[in-house]
Amino acid sequence: MERFEGQGDRFRPEAEAGTQARIENLNADGTSVWDRALAKLRHSTTDYTYENWITQIVQIGQDGSTLTLGVPNYFVRDWIVLYYSDLVRRAVHSVVGEPIAIEFVIDETRKAGAQPPAAGGKTQDEQVVIAQVEAAADARTRLSERFTFENFVVGPSNQLAAAAAAAVADNPGKQYNPLFIYGGTGLGKTHLLHAIGNRIRARDPKMRVVYTSAEQFLNDFVVLLKRGQMEEFRRRFREGVDVLMMDDIQVLKKAQETQNEFFHTFNDLHDSGKAIILTSDIHPNELPNIESRLRTRFTSGLTADVYEPPFEVRIAIIKRKAEQEGVNLPDDVAQFVASKVTRSVRDLEGALTRLAAHATLTGRALSTAYAEEVLRDMLPQRQALSIEHVQKVVAKYFGMQVEDLRGEKRIRPIANARSVAMYFCRKLISDASFPIIGAAFGDKHHTTVMAAVERVSQKRDADTALARELEELERQING
Ligand code: ADP
Ligand code: MG
Repeated sequence: MERFEGQGDRFRPEAEAGTQARIENLNADGTSVWDRALAKLRHSTTDYTYENWITQIVQIGQDGSTLTLGVPNYFVRDWIVLYYSDLVRRAVHSVVGEPIAIEFVIDETRKAGAQPPAAGGKTQDEQVVIAQVEAAADARTRLSERFTFENFVVGPSNQLAAAAAAAVADNPGKQYNPLFIYGGTGLGKTHLLHAIGNRIRARDPKMRVVYTSAEQFLNDFVVLLKRGQMEEFRRRFREGVDVLMMDDIQVLKKAQETQNEFFHTFNDLHDSGKAIILTSDIHPNELPNIESRLRTRFTSGLTADVYEPPFEVRIAIIKRKAEQEGVNLPDDVAQFVASKVTRSVRDLEGALTRLAAHATLTGRALSTAYAEEVLRDMLPQRQALSIEHVQKVVAKYFGMQVEDLRGEKRIRPIANARSVAMYFCRKLISDASFPIIGAAFGDKHHTTVMAAVERVSQKRDADTALARELEELERQING
């Protein structure tokens, strides 16, 4: 150890050091405590934070128990104290090796006319800083302005989710915390998240709204962990956050360690009254490999589902989109498309885009015949199977009555056969939405159907014998 410390001496510019005014702050290697803390911070913060905030700090003095750091003005001081003091403290402590008090003062020599923020007017410096902060915030929120409440069509299939989303947007963190929105793909979950974020930011631009997919969260976690920058990770998702929206959290089922981090993130934010909004493709209780303590948190606020919109809503949506895009869509064509594309709003949009593109390119007016031609490969190819047919074949295969599948009995073999029948209805019948399947199975709730289908899919993926059996059964259904 001695030798290493001595090594530093070799590089110490003796003559210059003698002339340094702040000689008492220097270590054997000629660097101040703050110099060395800076080197650490360089690695544990983003470039943005480092360049814009951290480098504004200089060391002014140090006695045994206190490190005095200077910043150019009050605004910067407030901001740093508010957002980066923990970061700075940890870096300094790890350099000094023991806790030491840190004091931030305005560095008079650099003040350059900056005044304490007076009510109303802001100095030029501060405006620049504010602009920088806002630019950074925007980059981090990743909100898309395209998705608003105004262009979200509400119907029975998304009414609860939309109302809850609006309530959260009006009162973030106060009600329904967390809000958990779940349902199949292309049904508006992401749209609602952005709508919440946009409304909150429109009302109060200072609110720090973070939108992230669980995948991005996982990615950031892994990358920053590898770089040893967990402080930056925590700052990004905890300290710097008023509203956290995480999309598609089913992804976390693959990541135990990230689940753990998310658990702490969640608790931290929740305890301090910050708003949390989550989405997933299935109900939290059906999420496989999610720790039960997380599941409990997920369901502690409000869970709201979105499902396939009924015909009338599909028409309303496609008309609204056509209007937005300036596409002239006759009513009968709108009805035709809405009757054929049933499962996802995303597909509905896709169909419209395709129609509009064809019509523009060929100069033909849109008609149902033309739509049928253009959308042919998006639409179900052959005579659709019926739910009754699937029920009949599945019941026969398992040696039961169709009534058993439609009934309430929960004993294992019957419940299993029922789940398998629901799974095939969903898989093989394109316009069998979850609610429609539920209705055909003795008025089961659509979430029961979703859960059953999910269960069968999971088992199929995990069990090759079952997968083969299902293939055989599918041949019989199609036969
Ligand atoms: P999810 O996140 O549930 O997979 P998205 O929110 O990405 O679905 O929605 C897919 C597309 O459908 C988006 O372009 C979205 O704007 C649109 N969309 C979904 N639901 C509605 C709705 N109720 N009204 C208007 N557009 C909708
Ligand atoms: Mg989505």
